[in-house]
Amino acid sequence: MSVLALDIGGTKIAAGIVDGGVATHLAQVPTPSQEGPTAIMDAAWQLADRVRCGADGAPSRLAVASAGVIDPLRGFVTSATDALRDWAGTDLRSGMDARSGLPVSVLNDVHAHTWGEYRHGRGRGHDSMLLIAVGTGIGGGYVVDGQLALGSAYVAGHVGHVDVAAADGIACSCGRTGHLEGVASGTGIEQRFLAATGEPRRGGEVARLATTDEPLSDAARAVITTAGHSLGRAIGGMLNSLDPGLVVLAGSVARAGDLWWDAVHRGVAESAMTIVADTPIVPADLDNAALVGVAAWSNAKEEQK
Ligand SMILES: [Zn+2]
Repeated sequence: MSVLALDIGGTKIAAGIVDGGVATHLAQVPTPSQEGPTAIMDAAWQLADRVRCGADGAPSRLAVASAGVIDPLRGFVTSATDALRDWAGTDLRSGMDARSGLPVSVLNDVHAHTWGEYRHGRGRGHDSMLLIAVGTGIGGGYVVDGQLALGSAYVAGHVGHVDVAAADGIACSCGRTGHLEGVASGTGIEQRFLAATGEPRRGGEVARLATTDEPLSDAARAVITTAGHSLGRAIGGMLNSLDPGLVVLAGSVARAGDLWWDAVHRGVAESAMTIVADTPIVPADLDNAALVGVAAWSNAKEEQK
């Protein structure tokens, strides 16, 4: 059964028709992120309706992944950053149901990404999996015994906000200090590079510099190595405490190259107890994972009824 799926992020809204592990009829628009929840939901539904009209057959359900802390049971956005103005408190499920006339299910975007990778990507055949998405920020999701861990406040998987030594004293986006995200996210890499060199560079450019022999290359290598190593140390701690059968690394920073991956593995080797040290750590491989995942989540909820 095909599902009409939406992914509402801080910069863009994506939509598609999902059948199994594949999303087609893909389209996207910029998120009117500072215009408030009504404008965001209007833009999301206009996009989804356009996708629906271009597809054969009518999808029977709408599945919505969104940035922010999402309570999938009540359908609310319980917390969100300023990236989406006034998004916290939005009754996302009712709002999208009223616009679409379709049954709607909602889920946090990283939880959706995790579920997609678990059901249709690298996680197939595993009972448990930890996904870490390393992009502008660092998010994650944890599947244990085939169930997505949501957490009692729906915050489970915020793995960017664990302490690592290299981030000691560094301010984090969450308002605390010393967290992994401050040194290992794309934003953290850019800020650490700026602090070391006085030169503003995008994260992708820092990763490129780290592979060359230019005046700023040594600084770039140090920043990329610290980012990967800190992530590896944190993953080691999570292997010890959660014992997932598989760790999947997604997001733009996971494409930073061999220097970064080697540093990740070195950090894991230093931190993980011997019994879990051989847990596979692999790159994600599912396209449109949040769309596929939120649709798969919607299907799973439907089957449980
Ligand atoms: Zn934090």
